Amino acid sequence: MSPLSLQSISKSFEGTRALDTVSLEFPEASITAVIGPSGCGKSTLLKLCNGLERPDSGEVQAFGRPLDYGDLPPLRRRMGYAVQGNGLFPHLTARDNISLLATLENWQAAAIEQRLEELVSLCQLEPALLDRFPHQLSGGQQQRVGLCRAMMLRPEILLLDEPFAAIDPTTRLEIQRQVLAMHRAEPTTAVLVTHDMREALRLADQLVI
Ligand code: ADP
Repeated sequence: MSPLSLQSISKSFEGTRALDTVSLEFPEASITAVIGPSGCGKSTLLKLCNGLERPDSGEVQAFGRPLDYGDLPPLRRRMGYAVQGNGLFPHLTARDNISLLATLENWQAAAIEQRLEELVSLCQLEPALLDRFPHQLSGGQQQRVGLCRAMMLRPEILLLDEPFAAIDPTTRLEIQRQVLAMHRAEPTTAVLVTHDMREALRLADQLVI
């Protein structure tokens, strides 16, 4: 069974129809790219998956059950989310940004440290960068930190909303390689929103256009 599916989802904003009876199943442990031009409803689709938006009609199912909009935190723990422009907290160091959710989940310090080490190595982030604040990091480094944060709790589902959009082409290629390596090491059910067909073809097992 697919860990994440949409059934006949429609969603409008003030008369603009962002999604019209969309049905999709995201296959387990593979990367699905959702590709299309700006404004076609890609981000809305991701936000529906983790309950940030509610559909006007239709149903979102995660882990075999319809989303419980009254109690989203248990779902969000199992669903990492990385957004364009990284969304890091500017007043927290990279280390604290990455480990924040685990701290809130009362993980032991040793477990946090071990997971940090795993992620830093997977992402090829220099450990010294962990003590810097987001504005002291390059765009590519910030994006890696955002990815590590999304993966901290070992989510089964990973939602990536144009995470590499603001990065220069060379760094982008490098990060794409790392994403593939990370996915091989920790296969999640990943949904990658992008408007870049080359990126989609490079990373995805399935394409949704
Ligand atoms: P994409 O991610 O493909 O660029 P979006 O999902 O962000 O597209 O947006 C799809 C459509 O819905 C656009 O027309 C956008 O302006 C509109 N939209 C998205 N979110 C909102 C919102 N919170 N309020 C009003 N309109 C919105």
